[in-house]
Amino acid sequence: MTRLKIKEILSTGKTGTKTLAKGWVRTKRGSKNVNFIALNDGSTIHNLQVVADTGKFDEQLLREINTGAALAVEGTLSESQGTGQNVELLAEKIELLGKADPEKYPIQPKKHSLEFLRENAHLRFRTNTFGAVFRIRHTMAFAINKYFNEKGFYYLHTPIITASDAEGAGQMFRVSTLDAVNPPITEEGKPDYSKDFFGRPTNLTVSGQLEGELGALALGEIYTFGPTFRAENSNTTRHLAEFWMIEPEMAFYDLKDNMDLAEEFLKYLIRYALEHCSDDLSFLSSRLKEEEKNKPQDQRSMDLVEKLQFVLNSEFVRLTYTEAIDILKNSKPYKKNKFQFPVDWGVDLQSEHERYLVEKHFKCPVILTDYPRDIKAFYMKQNDDGKTVRAMDVLFPQIGEIIGGSQREEVLEKLENRMKEMDIPSEEMWWYLDTRRFGSVVHSGFGLGFERFVQFVTGMGNIRDVIAFPRTPKNAEF
Ligand code: ATP
Ligand code: MN
Repeated sequence: MTRLKIKEILSTGKTGTKTLAKGWVRTKRGSKNVNFIALNDGSTIHNLQVVADTGKFDEQLLREINTGAALAVEGTLSESQGTGQNVELLAEKIELLGKADPEKYPIQPKKHSLEFLRENAHLRFRTNTFGAVFRIRHTMAFAINKYFNEKGFYYLHTPIITASDAEGAGQMFRVSTLDAVNPPITEEGKPDYSKDFFGRPTNLTVSGQLEGELGALALGEIYTFGPTFRAENSNTTRHLAEFWMIEPEMAFYDLKDNMDLAEEFLKYLIRYALEHCSDDLSFLSSRLKEEEKNKPQDQRSMDLVEKLQFVLNSEFVRLTYTEAIDILKNSKPYKKNKFQFPVDWGVDLQSEHERYLVEKHFKCPVILTDYPRDIKAFYMKQNDDGKTVRAMDVLFPQIGEIIGGSQREEVLEKLENRMKEMDIPSEEMWWYLDTRRFGSVVHSGFGLGFERFVQFVTGMGNIRDVIAFPRTPKNAEF
């Protein structure tokens, strides 16, 4: 008999048909005569109820059917007596594929804290919450590729090991095969990287953008979607040392085109989630409601599904950094000294400022543009005012910055001047500057942090809970 996935059994299974299901036991309960086993195989949040008459099976076998054990069950589908499912499986044959000692198995049929599950990240996939999160994460990754494919963008795989450290997006992880204790030493007493694997210092990439630009200026529209690394020591709920980033880069796009794309893209993904992940979303939404029960009414956040629909239906507010500073300076928290970080033209906005704008002032997603050039990267298109650059950050409720992007400086001379001012060695970047030497055109792009986006869609408060095996300072266990 061929095995059917539980998702299929529950949606199209007909009563009276013989079926084989395989999966892991979530719970077993029952009476002297009959056992109800909730079986889950990861294909859906819902369990298949297996009904096993005590008399039909070996006592020892029934005793070993515990939470966490793996089973193959053959039987006949019948109309369910209980609520919550249409069909259940009347077991005729049960094979115990893998035992799970109930004394030792960490995932018990009760509520575990997210912290506990993080310490058991190898098994947390077997919970409803993480099953839902990782099915949604998968669906979003698929939708990203689908969206860009439909729009004629090419998926470009940019390198993970890079020699350029000019991006300046954050601290980098060195990649080296030199002996850490006794490296070869130069005359100046420094490690001799000419003896290293690549003959030069190399790092894990902080962004695929610079290489992405090379692709866009030939293929037209490309995107990267890959792992990105930042060795910054930030222990927040929104930072990982290893995260995934989606970076589209488009020839002939100015800042407005860039913003339009970002907004359309985010809405496409949210719509896709609502249409394809409704079971998992409604589970996560009730989970959040449960979690917020103890909060006072006015501090509870919007229902997850409502929140997604709300963002889908709202037009993102677009304003300049300068206008945002004015709003912040006239805000209640500013006047009452409630912000932890300063607000002044020229400072980088902190999450508290971004969230004030989004959650309190505009009450919808916001795109901030035209930031002071001194707080942004060298490659951003310089405005004529000599003070600002054509940057754009997309700010989301609960998350803050979800996208960072810009129109790129396409004028060779301006780019070189800016690099000089910022002490970026242009000789090492000759390949990047060549795009401005040969057939340079207006172009733009942005980076969407995949985990921050998945946090938004799933409502998970901590970024460590939306990536399978989080990498954060002092933490790389699994
Ligand atoms: P932040 O100011 O929030 O640290 P950033 O300005 O350093 O972010 P960018 O360099 O603009 O971020 O990166 C583009 C996007 O990548 C961000 O908008 C965010 O969604 C995501 N991102 C950046 N750093 C991290 C990180 N350490 N962990 C997870 N996602 C990140
Ligand atoms: Mn940024």
